[in-house]
Amino acid sequence: MSVESKNPETIALHAGHRADPTTGAVAVPIYQTTSYQFQNTEHASNLFALKELGNIYTRIMNPTCDALEQRVTALEGGVAALAVASGQAASAMAIQNLARSGDNIVSSTDLYGGTWNLFANTLKDQGIEVRFVDPSDPQNFANATDERTRAYYAETLPNPKLSVFPIKEVADIGRPLGIPLIMDNTAAPILCRPFDHGAAVIVYSTTKYIGGHGTSIGGLIVDSGTFEWDAIPERQPALNTPDPSYHGAVWSEAVKPLGPIAYIIKARVTLLRDLGAAMSPFNAFQFIQGLETLPLRMRAHCENAIKVADYLKGHDKVEKVIFAGLQEGEAKRRSETYLKGGFGGLLGFEIKGGKEAGAAFINALELFYHVANIGDARSLAIHPATTTHSQLTAEEQIASGVSDSYVRLSIGIEHIDDIIADLEQALAKA
Ligand code: PLP
Repeated sequence: MSVESKNPETIALHAGHRADPTTGAVAVPIYQTTSYQFQNTEHASNLFALKELGNIYTRIMNPTCDALEQRVTALEGGVAALAVASGQAASAMAIQNLARSGDNIVSSTDLYGGTWNLFANTLKDQGIEVRFVDPSDPQNFANATDERTRAYYAETLPNPKLSVFPIKEVADIGRPLGIPLIMDNTAAPILCRPFDHGAAVIVYSTTKYIGGHGTSIGGLIVDSGTFEWDAIPERQPALNTPDPSYHGAVWSEAVKPLGPIAYIIKARVTLLRDLGAAMSPFNAFQFIQGLETLPLRMRAHCENAIKVADYLKGHDKVEKVIFAGLQEGEAKRRSETYLKGGFGGLLGFEIKGGKEAGAAFINALELFYHVANIGDARSLAIHPATTTHSQLTAEEQIASGVSDSYVRLSIGIEHIDDIIADLEQALAKA
């Protein structure tokens, strides 16, 4: 039995799994197995040849991961997803699935520090050039494009600037050129559905809001199914030329009978097969638990964050509050266009007194945890210049919006009075 609904609250509880077919278990079971008994040799051979889809080996697929993949696919309005070991693995594979040595992608400068490093150094070492552009003008993506550009990449609600990305504007530049937009939607699940605005692929660090309880590292790649990979075949050679690693399959053709899933199937049966960054079934189970209350939690994060922004705005030790709900002009329009139901739980502020005041504030916090994480149900704080963004050069830090006096908060779902009381006492000591 399946439940049809357009509402995220219902989808998050029911999509992808109703009851276990053999036991009737309502909670998604943890299928802690490496491999799966084939019915006979023909069945085994059909699975390997992708004539039918089914379980082969847990590095490539697993029923617990499958329930998570189906549930997030339903929430995003896509066609299929792939669970991987971390958000970093999701970003890397989303690009490696299209770009090969000698190719390039164009990315927003406004990125998580780890993604920046992946792009500026590791992908570069692999021969994939990442061209960083300022996202405030979408035309910058067009200007940086050449015949070997394979994808555009950005984050929906990038911290620390918290200025929402112009999704439709950049997707519209890419589509006629055969270039897909890959959106990292980690900071804005439920609030934004990037496929509704033309994005072709979504990546998540499920470690954050989807998990929500700070227990597990994981990532997801979601395929919209709406991108025509063979519209300009020479633009996407990885999907339109024979793949020697899968007996010459041309991915845009090979899986057509199974649906518009060429991109995500290729990622699963070649990259995940070869690189092996699979999500464990136990972690998938944890993410499913998180997902079931995600719409409720996002609402609570958003409500608390607005109140914290209002409180900090009026505080005499605060120079400036950075929050998606406090943007002006074009940035305000983007916040209101792309985020629905709130402005997210992330918020930053510039503290008067610079680095020393920032450190004193963080050291004085009692309720907030001082951790390198976002999106937990608990409230979190960090000083990016000395932690998450410390491996960037001074210029790179400025380009990504990190200053010495910037403090980042990830507002949790505790009672708002307790959150504000902790900020109040810590600011008094800063
Ligand atoms: N994308 C964003 C926006 C992030 O904030 C992070 C981690 O902080 C990642 C990706 C990487 O995710 P993970 O830590 O799960 O590898």
